[in-house]
Amino acid sequence: MTHENRYRAYTLSNYKEIPQIKNLSSQDIEAIEVVGRVLPFKANNYVVEQLIDWNNIPNDPIFTLTFPRKEMLSTAHYEQVLNMLDRDPSDPIYKEAIDTIRRDLNPNPAGQEHNVPTLEGFRLDGMQHKYRETVLFFPSQGQTCHAYCTFCFRWPQFTGMNDLKFASREADLLHRYLLEHKEVTDVLFTGGDPLTATANILSAYIEPLLTEEFAHIRTIRIGSKALSYWPYRFLTDRDADNLIELFTKVRKAGKNLAFQAHFNHPAELSTDVVKQAIDRIKSTGAQIRTQSPLLNKINNHPDIWVDMWQKQVDLGCIPYYMFIARDTGSKVFFEVPLDQAWELFRNAYSRVSGVCRTVRGPSMSAFPGKVIVTGVAKVKDEKVFILEFLQCRNPDLVGIPFFAKYDADATWLDQLEPAFDEKEFFYEKDNLLGDNSDDRNLWE
Ligand SMILES: *Cc1c(COP(=O)(O)O)cnc(C)c1O
Ligand code: SF4
Repeated sequence: MTHENRYRAYTLSNYKEIPQIKNLSSQDIEAIEVVGRVLPFKANNYVVEQLIDWNNIPNDPIFTLTFPRKEMLSTAHYEQVLNMLDRDPSDPIYKEAIDTIRRDLNPNPAGQEHNVPTLEGFRLDGMQHKYRETVLFFPSQGQTCHAYCTFCFRWPQFTGMNDLKFASREADLLHRYLLEHKEVTDVLFTGGDPLTATANILSAYIEPLLTEEFAHIRTIRIGSKALSYWPYRFLTDRDADNLIELFTKVRKAGKNLAFQAHFNHPAELSTDVVKQAIDRIKSTGAQIRTQSPLLNKINNHPDIWVDMWQKQVDLGCIPYYMFIARDTGSKVFFEVPLDQAWELFRNAYSRVSGVCRTVRGPSMSAFPGKVIVTGVAKVKDEKVFILEFLQCRNPDLVGIPFFAKYDADATWLDQLEPAFDEKEFFYEKDNLLGDNSDDRNLWE
C-alpha cells in the first residue's frame, strides 16, 4: 500500500498531527477543542488530503462537514465548555456538564422504538420495519463511520465491534424475521456505516438471503458513506476484493444490489479514486443511488445540486433523495426552512435534464413517514404547503396530496398546522397510522 490508501483516522486526540492544522487561526483551533468535546468528530487522510480545500478554512464545505465549528454550539454552551477545558475529562462535574449539553442538543428521537419489530415476543433491536416492503438492518459491526458528519447524531451508537460469532447470531434473527414476513422485498443495511464491517461479516448476513428460501427478497440495499469518505474501501483495502465478490454474488443470484451512496457535495465526486471506486462497484452489476440532506453552509445553493446531480449521472449513478436535515444535533447551524428547501429543489430540478430528475425531495423522514414538500400554492386566498407521503406507515396513504398552512420559518413537519381551518391532518384521523400514532412528540 502507498501512503494515500493506508487508512489513518484523525480525532480530537490526534488531529494536530494533520500538517495543515498549523495554518488554522487560533479561533478555529479553539472551536475544534471546545465543540469537539461535545460533538465527536473523525476525519481521515483521504478527506484531509483530497477533499478539503485548506485555503478556504473554516468555510470549506468538507471541513465544515468533518470538523467542529464554533457556531455549532450556542454561545452559552460554548462559553461553558471553554471555561472547563482545563479540567480532567474524568472529572464528574465536567462529565455531567458535557452530558447535559448533549442532551440539550439531541431531543432523543425515541420514535425509533415504534419501528422495532419483534420475533416470538423478543424485540429485534438491530432492525426497523416501518414501511411494508423494506426492513432496515443495523449490523452491530457497522455502528461506526468513516467520518462522523457533524450534522449527524448517530455517534452515541458508534462502538465498532467486529465479532463474527455475534454477527451470525444477529444474522439468524434477521433471517428468521424475514422468513415470516413475505411482504418484505428489500433489506437495507445501514448504520453508522455497514461497510466499516468486514466483507466476511457482511457475507454472514447477505449470502443466506441469496438462497431459494428468500425468493421474496428482491433487493439488497447498502447505505454507505464510504464512497465519499474512503473510496479505497472498494479498491485497495485488505478485503476490497471480497466485498466486490460479494456484490457480484448478489447479482449472480438474480437480486438487485442497490448501493445507496451518501454524497453531500460535488467535491466528493471529483477525485480519481472515487471515480475508480464507482466503476468497480458498477462492474459487479450493482446500481448506485445517491442521497443527501440539504445543509446550510454545505450545499445550500441550487448550483451545487445541479452540479452534484449532473456529476452523479455522468458517473453512472442515479440521483434518489434530497432530505431535509433531521431535527437533532447542531440543527440550528445546518437547517434550511421548508419553503427555501422547496424553492432550491425546484430551481435545481428545473435546470437539469430528465435523466437527473429521478431525484425526489425535499423529503422529511418524520414519524408518520417520508413527507415531501411538492409545492407552495395559493388556494382561495390561503397560502399553503402541498405535501405528500413518499413512504408511510400506512401504505394506502402514499401519494395523496395534503395541505398545511404556509409558514416561512417552519423547518419540520411537527411545526406545521393543517390548512383550511382543519383540526388535524388527514392521516391523523380514524387512527389511520395505527397504535401510538397520537403521540405527536415522536417524529422519527
Ligand atoms: C427511508 C427509509 C426506508 C427506505 O425508503 P425508500 O423510499 O424505499 O428508499 C426504509 N425504512 C425507513 C425507516 C426509512 O426511513
Ligand atoms: S451515519 Fe451517515 S451521516 Fe452519520 S456520521 Fe455516519 S456517514 Fe455521517
